Amino acid sequence: MATKRDYYEVLGVDRNASTEDIKKSYRKLAVKFHPDKNPGDVAAEEKFKELGEAYEVLIDDNKRSAYDRYGHAAFGAGVGAGGNRGDGGFHDPFDILREVFGMSGEGGSGIFDQIFGSGMASRDRSGRQRGSDLRYDLQITLEEAAFGTEKEIEILKHETCTSCGGSGAEAGSRATSCPTCQGRGQVITSRGFFQVSQTCPRCHGTGQVIDRPCRHCGGDGRVEKRSRVKLKIPAGIDDGARLRSSRNGEAGVRGGPPGDLYVVTHVREHEIFTREDDDLYCDVPISFATAALGGEAKVPTLQGQALLKIPAGTQSGTQFRLRGHGVQNMDAGNRGDLRVRVIVEVPTRLNSEQRRKLEEFASSCHDDNSPMHKTFFDKAKEFFR
Ligand SMILES: [Zn+2]
Ligand SMILES: [Zn+2]
Repeated sequence: MATKRDYYEVLGVDRNASTEDIKKSYRKLAVKFHPDKNPGDVAAEEKFKELGEAYEVLIDDNKRSAYDRYGHAAFGAGVGAGGNRGDGGFHDPFDILREVFGMSGEGGSGIFDQIFGSGMASRDRSGRQRGSDLRYDLQITLEEAAFGTEKEIEILKHETCTSCGGSGAEAGSRATSCPTCQGRGQVITSRGFFQVSQTCPRCHGTGQVIDRPCRHCGGDGRVEKRSRVKLKIPAGIDDGARLRSSRNGEAGVRGGPPGDLYVVTHVREHEIFTREDDDLYCDVPISFATAALGGEAKVPTLQGQALLKIPAGTQSGTQFRLRGHGVQNMDAGNRGDLRVRVIVEVPTRLNSEQRRKLEEFASSCHDDNSPMHKTFFDKAKEFFR
Protein backbone atom coordinates (compact mmCIF):
# COMPACT_ATOMS: atom_id res chain seq x y z
CA MET A 1 0.00 0.00 0.00
CA ALA A 2 1.38 3.41 -0.88
CA THR A 3 2.04 5.71 2.05
CA LYS A 4 -0.76 8.08 2.85
CA ARG A 5 -0.16 11.50 4.21
CA ASP A 6 -1.34 12.38 7.67
CA TYR A 7 -4.81 13.92 7.50
CA TYR A 8 -3.85 16.79 9.78
CA GLU A 9 -0.88 17.52 7.58
CA VAL A 10 -3.06 17.37 4.47
CA LEU A 11 -5.37 20.01 5.91
CA GLY A 12 -2.52 22.07 7.36
CA VAL A 13 -3.92 22.08 10.90
CA ASP A 14 -2.48 20.78 14.18
CA ARG A 15 -3.81 17.80 16.07
CA ASN A 16 -5.97 19.80 18.48
CA ALA A 17 -7.50 22.04 15.82
CA SER A 18 -11.16 22.93 16.35
CA THR A 19 -13.89 21.94 13.92
CA GLU A 20 -14.01 25.57 12.80
CA ASP A 21 -10.26 25.59 12.10
CA ILE A 22 -10.60 22.43 10.04
CA LYS A 23 -13.51 23.87 8.05
CA LYS A 24 -11.71 27.11 7.44
CA SER A 25 -8.51 25.47 6.30
CA TYR A 26 -10.38 23.01 4.11
CA ARG A 27 -12.36 25.77 2.40
CA LYS A 28 -9.23 27.69 1.58
CA LEU A 29 -7.31 24.68 0.24
CA ALA A 30 -10.26 23.17 -1.64
CA VAL A 31 -10.76 26.42 -3.56
CA LYS A 32 -7.05 26.51 -4.35
CA PHE A 33 -6.84 22.94 -5.68
CA HIS A 34 -10.31 22.69 -7.24
CA PRO A 35 -10.08 21.05 -10.70
CA ASP A 36 -12.03 23.94 -12.25
CA LYS A 37 -9.22 26.21 -11.20
CA ASN A 38 -6.51 23.78 -12.32
CA PRO A 39 -7.83 22.04 -15.44
CA GLY A 40 -5.65 19.18 -16.57
CA ASP A 41 -3.43 19.42 -13.50
CA VAL A 42 -3.34 15.86 -12.19
CA ALA A 43 -1.34 16.76 -9.08
CA ALA A 44 -3.92 19.39 -8.07
CA GLU A 45 -6.74 16.93 -8.70
CA GLU A 46 -5.07 14.36 -6.42
CA LYS A 47 -4.58 17.03 -3.76
CA PHE A 48 -8.24 17.97 -4.05
CA LYS A 49 -9.34 14.37 -3.51
CA GLU A 50 -6.90 13.91 -0.66
CA LEU A 51 -8.32 17.03 0.99
CA GLY A 52 -11.88 15.74 0.68
CA GLU A 53 -10.89 12.44 2.25
CA ALA A 54 -9.01 14.08 5.13
CA TYR A 55 -11.84 16.53 5.74
CA GLU A 56 -14.48 13.83 5.81
CA VAL A 57 -12.65 12.03 8.58
CA LEU A 58 -11.53 14.97 10.71
CA ILE A 59 -14.89 16.76 10.63
CA ASP A 60 -16.68 13.75 12.05
CA ASP A 61 -16.06 13.30 15.81
CA ASN A 62 -16.29 9.49 15.69
CA LYS A 63 -14.09 9.10 12.65
CA ARG A 64 -11.63 11.61 14.00
CA SER A 65 -11.17 9.84 17.33
CA ALA A 66 -10.81 6.51 15.51
CA TYR A 67 -8.18 8.09 13.28
CA ASP A 68 -6.39 9.60 16.30
CA ARG A 69 -6.19 6.17 17.91
CA TYR A 70 -5.53 3.88 14.93
CA GLY A 71 -4.40 6.18 12.15
CA HIS A 72 -5.26 5.15 8.57
CA ALA A 73 -5.72 1.57 9.78
CA ALA A 74 -9.03 2.66 11.34
CA PHE A 75 -10.55 2.72 7.89
CA GLY A 76 -9.69 -0.76 6.80
CA ALA A 77 -7.50 -2.09 4.05
CA GLY A 78 -8.28 -0.95 0.59
CA VAL A 79 -9.79 2.33 1.63
CA GLY A 80 -8.06 5.01 -0.36
CA ALA A 81 -5.10 2.77 -1.02
CA GLY A 82 -2.70 5.32 -2.42
CA GLY A 83 -4.27 7.73 -4.85
CA ASN A 84 -7.24 5.69 -5.97
CA ARG A 85 -10.20 7.78 -6.95
CA GLY A 86 -11.91 7.94 -3.59
CA ASP A 87 -14.00 4.92 -4.47
CA GLY A 88 -12.73 3.06 -1.44
CA GLY A 89 -15.75 4.24 0.48
CA PHE A 90 -15.33 7.98 0.63
CA HIS A 91 -17.77 10.51 -0.71
CA ASP A 92 -17.40 12.38 -3.95
CA PRO A 93 -15.11 15.32 -3.02
CA PHE A 94 -17.41 17.65 -4.96
CA ASP A 95 -20.34 16.70 -2.74
CA ILE A 96 -18.28 17.45 0.34
CA LEU A 97 -17.34 20.83 -1.03
CA ARG A 98 -20.98 21.65 -1.68
CA GLU A 99 -21.89 20.74 1.87
CA VAL A 100 -19.12 22.90 3.28
CA PHE A 101 -20.23 25.84 1.22
CA GLY A 102 -23.80 25.20 2.36
CA MET A 103 -25.32 24.09 -0.91
CA SER A 104 -28.31 21.91 -1.42
CA GLY A 105 -26.80 20.18 -4.41
CA GLU A 106 -29.57 21.25 -6.77
CA GLY A 107 -27.08 22.65 -9.27
CA GLY A 108 -26.09 26.26 -9.90
CA SER A 109 -26.14 27.67 -6.42
CA GLY A 110 -24.75 31.17 -5.98
CA ILE A 111 -21.55 30.96 -3.97
CA PHE A 112 -20.31 27.86 -5.72
CA ASP A 113 -20.80 29.46 -9.11
CA GLN A 114 -19.09 32.64 -8.04
CA ILE A 115 -16.07 30.75 -6.80
CA PHE A 116 -15.74 28.29 -9.63
CA GLY A 117 -17.58 30.05 -12.41
CA SER A 118 -18.88 26.92 -14.00
CA GLY A 119 -21.94 25.76 -12.15
CA MET A 120 -22.25 22.05 -11.60
CA ALA A 121 -18.91 20.37 -11.36
CA SER A 122 -20.50 16.98 -11.05
CA ARG A 123 -23.85 15.23 -11.20
CA ASP A 124 -26.90 16.87 -9.64
CA ARG A 125 -30.07 15.12 -8.47
CA SER A 126 -31.73 14.94 -11.86
CA GLY A 127 -28.73 13.06 -13.26
CA ARG A 128 -27.49 16.09 -15.11
CA GLN A 129 -23.76 16.32 -15.28
CA ARG A 130 -21.46 18.97 -16.63
CA GLY A 131 -19.49 17.85 -19.69
CA SER A 132 -15.74 17.38 -19.38
CA ASP A 133 -13.27 20.06 -20.30
CA LEU A 134 -11.10 19.30 -23.30
CA ARG A 135 -7.57 20.28 -24.20
CA TYR A 136 -6.35 20.98 -27.70
CA ASP A 137 -2.73 21.66 -28.61
CA LEU A 138 -2.50 24.20 -31.39
CA GLN A 139 0.63 24.83 -33.46
CA ILE A 140 1.00 28.38 -34.75
CA THR A 141 3.75 30.35 -36.47
CA LEU A 142 5.59 33.24 -34.87
CA GLU A 143 3.86 35.62 -37.30
CA GLU A 144 0.45 34.30 -36.22
CA ALA A 145 1.41 34.68 -32.57
CA ALA A 146 2.64 38.23 -33.16
CA PHE A 147 -0.32 39.53 -35.15
CA GLY A 148 -3.12 37.25 -33.99
CA THR A 149 -5.12 34.96 -36.23
CA GLU A 150 -8.31 33.00 -36.60
CA LYS A 151 -8.23 29.23 -36.77
CA GLU A 152 -10.81 26.58 -37.34
CA ILE A 153 -9.98 23.28 -35.69
CA GLU A 154 -11.65 19.90 -35.84
CA ILE A 155 -12.06 17.90 -32.65
CA LEU A 156 -13.66 14.62 -31.77
CA LYS A 157 -16.04 15.14 -28.85
CA HIS A 158 -19.37 14.21 -27.35
CA GLU A 159 -22.28 16.29 -28.61
CA THR A 160 -25.86 16.28 -27.41
CA CYS A 161 -27.77 13.49 -29.20
CA THR A 162 -30.21 15.02 -31.64
CA SER A 163 -32.55 11.98 -31.65
CA CYS A 164 -33.48 12.25 -27.97
CA GLY A 165 -32.46 15.84 -27.36
CA GLY A 166 -30.00 14.68 -24.71
CA SER A 167 -32.51 12.91 -22.48
CA GLY A 168 -31.20 9.44 -23.42
CA ALA A 169 -34.76 8.11 -23.66
CA GLU A 170 -36.34 6.64 -26.80
CA ALA A 171 -39.47 8.45 -28.04
CA GLY A 172 -42.39 7.47 -25.80
CA SER A 173 -40.05 6.30 -23.07
CA ARG A 174 -39.14 8.28 -19.98
CA ALA A 175 -36.35 8.59 -17.49
CA THR A 176 -37.56 7.74 -14.02
CA SER A 177 -35.98 7.92 -10.62
CA CYS A 178 -33.71 4.90 -9.99
CA PRO A 179 -35.49 2.47 -7.64
CA THR A 180 -32.23 1.09 -6.19
CA CYS A 181 -30.99 4.42 -4.81
CA GLN A 182 -34.25 6.40 -4.91
CA GLY A 183 -32.66 8.77 -7.35
CA ARG A 184 -29.76 9.71 -5.06
CA GLY A 185 -27.12 8.13 -7.26
CA GLN A 186 -25.42 6.77 -4.15
CA VAL A 187 -26.13 3.76 -1.99
CA ILE A 188 -25.15 3.39 1.66
CA THR A 189 -23.27 0.27 2.72
CA SER A 190 -21.67 -0.69 6.02
CA ARG A 191 -17.95 -0.99 6.26
CA GLY A 192 -16.50 -1.76 9.66
CA PHE A 193 -17.67 0.89 12.12
CA PHE A 194 -18.93 3.20 9.46
CA GLN A 195 -21.62 3.61 6.94
CA VAL A 196 -20.17 4.65 3.64
CA SER A 197 -21.72 5.94 0.49
CA GLN A 198 -20.94 4.41 -2.91
CA THR A 199 -21.97 5.05 -6.49
CA CYS A 200 -25.21 3.23 -7.25
CA PRO A 201 -24.41 0.16 -9.37
CA ARG A 202 -27.73 0.29 -11.21
CA CYS A 203 -27.81 3.86 -12.51
CA HIS A 204 -24.02 4.46 -12.27
CA GLY A 205 -24.62 7.53 -10.15
CA THR A 206 -27.02 9.34 -12.45
CA GLY A 207 -30.00 8.63 -10.18
CA GLN A 208 -32.17 7.84 -13.18
CA VAL A 209 -33.08 4.79 -15.19
CA ILE A 210 -34.62 4.72 -18.64
CA ASP A 211 -36.98 1.89 -19.57
CA ARG A 212 -36.16 2.15 -23.28
CA PRO A 213 -32.84 3.89 -24.00
CA CYS A 214 -32.44 5.97 -27.15
CA ARG A 215 -31.22 3.75 -30.00
CA HIS A 216 -29.00 6.45 -31.38
CA CYS A 217 -26.92 7.16 -28.26
CA GLY A 218 -27.60 4.08 -26.13
CA GLY A 219 -29.13 6.19 -23.35
CA ASP A 220 -26.14 8.44 -22.73
CA GLY A 221 -27.86 11.44 -24.33
CA ARG A 222 -24.65 12.17 -26.20
CA VAL A 223 -22.94 10.92 -29.33
CA GLU A 224 -19.30 11.21 -30.30
CA LYS A 225 -18.62 13.19 -33.44
CA ARG A 226 -16.19 15.47 -35.20
CA SER A 227 -16.96 19.13 -34.65
CA ARG A 228 -15.41 22.26 -36.02
CA VAL A 229 -14.60 25.05 -33.59
CA LYS A 230 -13.54 28.57 -34.57
CA LEU A 231 -10.81 30.07 -32.45
CA LYS A 232 -9.66 33.66 -32.25
CA ILE A 233 -5.98 33.81 -31.36
CA PRO A 234 -5.12 37.23 -29.91
CA ALA A 235 -2.05 39.15 -31.09
CA GLY A 236 0.92 38.73 -28.78
CA ILE A 237 0.10 35.25 -27.51
CA ASP A 238 3.09 33.34 -26.24
CA ASP A 239 4.23 29.74 -26.46
CA GLY A 240 2.43 27.59 -23.90
CA ALA A 241 -0.40 30.07 -23.32
CA ARG A 242 -3.80 28.62 -22.52
CA LEU A 243 -6.98 30.01 -24.04
CA ARG A 244 -10.43 29.04 -22.87
CA SER A 245 -13.10 28.50 -25.48
CA SER A 246 -16.17 28.62 -23.29
CA ARG A 247 -18.76 25.81 -23.63
CA ASN A 248 -16.88 24.13 -26.49
CA GLY A 249 -15.87 21.09 -24.43
CA GLU A 250 -17.87 17.88 -24.17
CA ALA A 251 -21.65 18.11 -24.03
CA GLY A 252 -23.16 17.62 -20.58
CA VAL A 253 -24.93 14.40 -19.62
CA ARG A 254 -28.75 14.53 -19.69
CA GLY A 255 -29.00 18.24 -20.34
CA GLY A 256 -26.11 19.29 -18.08
CA PRO A 257 -24.02 22.25 -19.26
CA PRO A 258 -21.11 21.61 -21.63
CA GLY A 259 -17.51 21.74 -20.47
CA ASP A 260 -14.95 24.18 -21.79
CA LEU A 261 -12.29 23.72 -24.41
CA TYR A 262 -8.79 24.74 -23.44
CA VAL A 263 -6.44 25.55 -26.27
CA VAL A 264 -2.72 25.47 -25.53
CA THR A 265 -0.63 27.33 -28.10
CA HIS A 266 2.70 26.07 -29.34
CA VAL A 267 4.67 28.58 -31.35
CA ARG A 268 6.88 26.96 -33.99
CA GLU A 269 10.53 27.81 -34.08
CA HIS A 270 11.28 30.57 -36.59
CA GLU A 271 14.12 30.40 -39.10
CA ILE A 272 15.35 33.90 -38.34
CA PHE A 273 13.84 35.24 -35.13
CA THR A 274 13.82 34.08 -31.57
CA ARG A 275 11.45 35.63 -29.10
CA GLU A 276 11.84 36.70 -25.51
CA ASP A 277 8.69 38.23 -24.03
CA ASP A 278 7.72 41.01 -26.45
CA ASP A 279 11.15 41.37 -28.01
CA LEU A 280 12.52 39.57 -31.04
CA TYR A 281 16.16 38.76 -31.62
CA CYS A 282 18.09 38.07 -34.79
CA ASP A 283 21.63 37.97 -36.12
CA VAL A 284 22.51 39.86 -39.30
CA PRO A 285 25.87 39.47 -41.10
CA ILE A 286 27.60 42.64 -42.30
CA SER A 287 30.77 42.96 -44.32
CA PHE A 288 34.11 43.84 -42.78
CA ALA A 289 34.17 47.03 -44.86
CA THR A 290 30.68 48.16 -43.79
CA ALA A 291 31.63 47.59 -40.16
CA ALA A 292 34.80 49.64 -40.54
CA LEU A 293 33.50 52.40 -42.82
CA GLY A 294 29.87 52.56 -41.67
CA GLY A 295 26.84 52.23 -43.91
CA GLU A 296 23.48 50.57 -44.00
CA ALA A 297 22.32 46.99 -43.58
CA LYS A 298 19.06 45.39 -44.66
CA VAL A 299 17.36 43.82 -41.69
CA PRO A 300 14.44 41.38 -41.86
CA THR A 301 11.35 42.19 -39.77
CA LEU A 302 8.13 40.24 -39.22
CA GLN A 303 6.42 42.48 -41.75
CA GLY A 304 9.18 42.76 -44.34
CA GLN A 305 12.42 44.64 -43.95
CA ALA A 306 14.00 47.71 -42.45
CA LEU A 307 17.26 49.58 -43.00
CA LEU A 308 19.67 49.69 -40.13
CA LYS A 309 22.31 52.43 -39.94
CA ILE A 310 25.70 50.97 -39.15
CA PRO A 311 28.10 53.52 -37.60
CA ALA A 312 31.75 53.44 -38.68
CA GLY A 313 33.84 51.18 -36.45
CA THR A 314 31.04 48.81 -35.43
CA GLN A 315 32.34 45.69 -33.71
CA SER A 316 31.07 42.20 -34.38
CA GLY A 317 28.39 41.28 -31.84
CA THR A 318 27.11 44.82 -31.37
CA GLN A 319 23.39 44.85 -30.75
CA PHE A 320 21.07 47.44 -32.25
CA ARG A 321 17.48 48.07 -31.31
CA LEU A 322 14.68 48.68 -33.78
CA ARG A 323 11.87 50.09 -31.68
CA GLY A 324 8.37 48.75 -32.21
CA HIS A 325 9.41 45.90 -34.51
CA GLY A 326 8.82 43.23 -31.87
CA VAL A 327 5.66 41.44 -30.78
CA GLN A 328 2.57 43.17 -29.49
CA ASN A 329 2.16 43.09 -25.73
CA MET A 330 -1.15 41.37 -24.95
CA ASP A 331 -1.95 43.58 -21.99
CA ALA A 332 -0.43 46.95 -22.79
CA GLY A 333 -1.06 46.82 -26.55
CA ASN A 334 2.28 48.41 -27.48
CA ARG A 335 4.89 46.46 -29.38
CA GLY A 336 8.26 45.21 -28.26
CA ASP A 337 11.53 45.81 -30.09
CA LEU A 338 13.62 43.93 -32.59
CA ARG A 339 17.15 43.48 -31.32
CA VAL A 340 19.60 42.97 -34.13
CA ARG A 341 23.05 41.62 -33.43
CA VAL A 342 25.49 42.27 -36.24
CA ILE A 343 28.10 39.67 -37.06
CA VAL A 344 31.11 40.98 -38.97
CA GLU A 345 32.10 38.59 -41.69
CA VAL A 346 35.70 38.00 -42.58
CA PRO A 347 36.14 37.88 -46.35
CA THR A 348 37.18 34.53 -47.83
CA ARG A 349 38.85 33.66 -51.19
CA LEU A 350 40.77 36.90 -51.68
CA ASN A 351 42.14 37.53 -55.19
CA SER A 352 45.70 38.75 -55.53
CA GLU A 353 44.75 42.42 -55.74
CA GLN A 354 42.58 42.22 -52.65
CA ARG A 355 45.29 40.35 -50.80
CA ARG A 356 47.92 42.97 -51.71
CA LYS A 357 45.65 45.82 -50.59
CA LEU A 358 44.79 44.12 -47.34
CA GLU A 359 48.46 43.48 -46.59
CA GLU A 360 49.15 47.12 -47.31
CA PHE A 361 46.30 48.04 -44.98
CA ALA A 362 47.56 45.75 -42.25
CA SER A 363 51.07 47.16 -42.33
CA SER A 364 49.64 50.66 -41.82
CA CYS A 365 47.61 49.61 -38.75
CA HIS A 366 48.55 50.40 -35.19
CA ASP A 367 46.93 50.04 -31.76
CA ASP A 368 44.66 53.07 -32.27
CA ASN A 369 42.84 51.17 -34.98
CA SER A 370 42.14 48.18 -32.74
CA PRO A 371 40.80 49.33 -29.38
CA MET A 372 39.83 45.82 -28.19
CA HIS A 373 43.21 44.42 -29.12
CA LYS A 374 44.94 47.18 -27.14
CA THR A 375 42.89 46.73 -23.91
CA PHE A 376 43.21 42.97 -24.10
CA PHE A 377 46.97 42.96 -24.38
CA ASP A 378 47.29 45.60 -21.68
CA LYS A 379 45.43 43.24 -19.34
CA ALA A 380 47.24 40.11 -20.50
CA LYS A 381 50.71 41.65 -20.32
CA GLU A 382 51.80 39.61 -17.30
CA PHE A 383 50.98 36.35 -19.01
CA PHE A 384 53.25 37.03 -21.93
CA ARG A 385 56.33 38.03 -19.92
ZN1 LIG B 1 -30.15 9.78 -27.92
ZN1 LIG C 1 -29.39 4.30 -8.73
